Amino acid sequence: MKYKCSCCQKHVEEKNIKKTASILPFDGLPKMEGQTPLQGFLAVIKNHNLYQWACDDCHQSKKAILGNPRKQFYTFKNPWDSATPYLAYFDKNFTCKTCGEDFVFAKEEQQHWYEKLNFVVYSKPVNCPSCRKEIRDAKNLNTELSGLLKDGDPKDKNALIRIAEIYDILEKPEKAKAYRRAAEKLG
Ligand SMILES: [Zn+2]
Ligand SMILES: [Zn+2]
Repeated sequence: MKYKCSCCQKHVEEKNIKKTASILPFDGLPKMEGQTPLQGFLAVIKNHNLYQWACDDCHQSKKAILGNPRKQFYTFKNPWDSATPYLAYFDKNFTCKTCGEDFVFAKEEQQHWYEKLNFVVYSKPVNCPSCRKEIRDAKNLNTELSGLLKDGDPKDKNALIRIAEIYDILEKPEKAKAYRRAAEKLG
């Protein structure tokens, strides 16, 4: 019997699935009478690759790293549901929704997302890292701006200058000019 590795797509035998076997069982792996966790796992992946896992060669060559289902957040606990834990991570390519560039979702980053940040297993990156940073920066600027506009002292020159700066970054030169003028008036 051969099983298709999700990482290299090669068909491998049971003896090449030792690394994955070491992290079995986990919640949601079907249990059958008299079966070892590995046998249960092999039965599930025999016909359908319901799990993302990697063969020993992929682990050996560091193309893949082991996942830890116990640290992952997968709400559906049965393998026939759409959300199953990651038994391995390997680099994946995505296209950024914002700039259209291809980017790599690195295996270490995936591990961080799903095992440290606790993102649910089916969440995927939509934007590339630099667009993500830009979006985050813009959000932070907007938060800072609305704070200054709401609670800022209209006689505070530094606050007015900062508002002008933010408007410049947000490409609103007219507003930036108005706040800079107000700041200058304060002397
Ligand atoms: Zn492989
Ligand atoms: Zn992008």
